[in-house]
Amino acid sequence: MSSPAQDHHQRCTVMGCGRPTMRAVGVGLGTALCKYHVERRARHGSPFAPPIKATDLRPYVKTALAWIQERQKTDPTIGHVLQCLDGLLWGSGGGGPAPRASDIKGRSPKYRAKVAFMRLHAAEVPPARLLAVHLGMAACIEDDREAHRIPEFRIVQTAKALHRLASGTHWRWEMPLPNGNTAPAELHVYPRSSGQVLRFMGEEVEEICRAVTERDRDAIRQRKQEKYGPHPSHMPGWRPTWQRKLLATRGY
Ligand SMILES: [Zn+2]
Repeated sequence: MSSPAQDHHQRCTVMGCGRPTMRAVGVGLGTALCKYHVERRARHGSPFAPPIKATDLRPYVKTALAWIQERQKTDPTIGHVLQCLDGLLWGSGGGGPAPRASDIKGRSPKYRAKVAFMRLHAAEVPPARLLAVHLGMAACIEDDREAHRIPEFRIVQTAKALHRLASGTHWRWEMPLPNGNTAPAELHVYPRSSGQVLRFMGEEVEEICRAVTERDRDAIRQRKQEKYGPHPSHMPGWRPTWQRKLLATRGY
């Protein structure tokens, strides 16, 4: 007979955390993770991997987009995926205007995921761009030494990148400088999507794009490296985030 304490972990299993698990404090089903890491996993798709940076992702998406554009008329798999993505965008809202962020408060995550696709459609984001984000994200994660190589991380990170393409409020203005000139300034505010909305979004795109992404991911990695160089995590002197933070707290 086992005691209840042996049925689950007492302490969070993320390295260096040590906080009590949610089960140990009697909350939810977090058998191996603390509250902080359960929430982190919901938001980012991994309890510990840092989110993929937009600047790291950009060259991969550019490479993937060029790859898709070269082949979309001759490659039947790419052609089919683009058609399905077009259907996903059109089917989301029938061409009507997307509801405003303030109008969807309290609606189900599934509905809000649909609204996110409506926004992409309204912003005229082409299907090739959606496939490029999914393919580029898969290649970037494979090259990133800090990424978490599980489908959940790819799905959530892809949805976050797609979300950024079309949602929120954007301001651009000329900022006056002391010398009388002006400089362009920008402010972008995105409504934060819940982990569930991101999962619904990411899973729909994953389902459609998988055929191309599994086949072409490594070709994109190679082409990206030839054109833009290796991922920052493969550069000399690179340190993982936790190590950089530790050094910073010690004043290095
Ligand atoms: Zn933890």
